[in-house]
Amino acid sequence: MKPGSFEWTQWFQERQSQFTGQLLFDEPLAKHTYYRIGGPAALLAIPKTREDLELLREGLAAAGPPLFVLGLGSNILASDEGFAGIVVRASRLNLEIEPESRNDAGTEDSALVIRTGGSVAISTLLRRASTEGWAGLEFLTGVPGSVGGAVVMNAGTHLGEAAGALADVDWIGLRPGVPARSFAGADLKYQYRKNLYLPNDGIVWSARWKVRRDEPARVKAAIDETLARRKATQPLDFPSCGSVFKNPKESGLSAWQVIDRLGLRGHRIGDAQFAEKHSNFIVNLGSARAADVRALIDLAKRRASKELGVQLEEEVMFI
Ligand SMILES: Cc1cc2nc3c(=O)[nH]c(=O)nc-3n(C[C@H](O)[C@H](O)[C@H](O)COP(=O)(O)OP(=O)(O)OC[C@H]3O[C@@H](n4cnc5c(N)ncnc54)[C@H](O)[C@@H]3O)c2cc1C
Repeated sequence: MKPGSFEWTQWFQERQSQFTGQLLFDEPLAKHTYYRIGGPAALLAIPKTREDLELLREGLAAAGPPLFVLGLGSNILASDEGFAGIVVRASRLNLEIEPESRNDAGTEDSALVIRTGGSVAISTLLRRASTEGWAGLEFLTGVPGSVGGAVVMNAGTHLGEAAGALADVDWIGLRPGVPARSFAGADLKYQYRKNLYLPNDGIVWSARWKVRRDEPARVKAAIDETLARRKATQPLDFPSCGSVFKNPKESGLSAWQVIDRLGLRGHRIGDAQFAEKHSNFIVNLGSARAADVRALIDLAKRRASKELGVQLEEEVMFI
């Protein structure tokens, strides 16, 4: 089998019956991204078990096609041409949410650790946190992705970021010869919306979060308040990837302020638009193509550099 050719898909076609999850050939990525944009992946795999991951690993070893690991697709712009490799959508693997008591010396009685599967949706985790009274995860309010995506992206809000609440992360490599690994403490190296320790050819299997017990009503009130504020300030009626650019901190400006200074709020190419409601969101008004979104991104980067001396960096990831 030749890497990069479509012959390798046959290897997987012949093993469909051994796979518990789904193997979807020529699957439109638009169906798996929040943006509702993206051409076909040669193969989109939705594994459900560790055995499924083994089969994917075997196929990757035999065939060597390009690999992209997807979570819930909320921070992704997929190309109009699609992807000539395997996209592994890690949305149905480990879905556990389990509290564990913390017995490390010096912690208060109220301290807890919550073990979460990498496929757990952040919204599900926060619902559970508000019914159980687990405080400390409110900073993830309104982030629409999965635990795996939050761990990889160091997701967060003005209330904090993943780096501040993670105790450890279990990761499984998908390439041959790459062992599963656990990362804890000083291994968990992060920068703003970026991790510096996870290889990009594997799966975040689980993560443990440091929280503390509190009144469920108080946790719920904090989450509800942030949700209401985000609803009022973000264009949630249209598909998007959230903030397109990271805040260029060294400039002293937020990304939305840069877009506004360039007069680009509301600017539109095709069906992609810098949202009127929040100018660091590029929304898909209906049938935007990845090329339209890319054109807006390139325009803002070029003009920010030339006119304001600000280097904008994308937060959105590209397939
Ligand atoms: C309306 C809206 C609002 C948003 N608001 C915020 C916000 O306030 N703060 C914020 O930080 N982000 C925000 N985002 C962006 C996005 O939700 C986060 O980046 C989120 O953490 C991505 O999670 P995901 O599961 O969708 O990952 P994806 O978008 O699918 O993937 C993102 C990255 O994570 C990797 N990845 C995902 N899951 C796994 C896994 N299990 N194993 C290994 N790698 C994995 C992918 O390879 C990719 O590199 C917003 C997005 C939208 C659409």
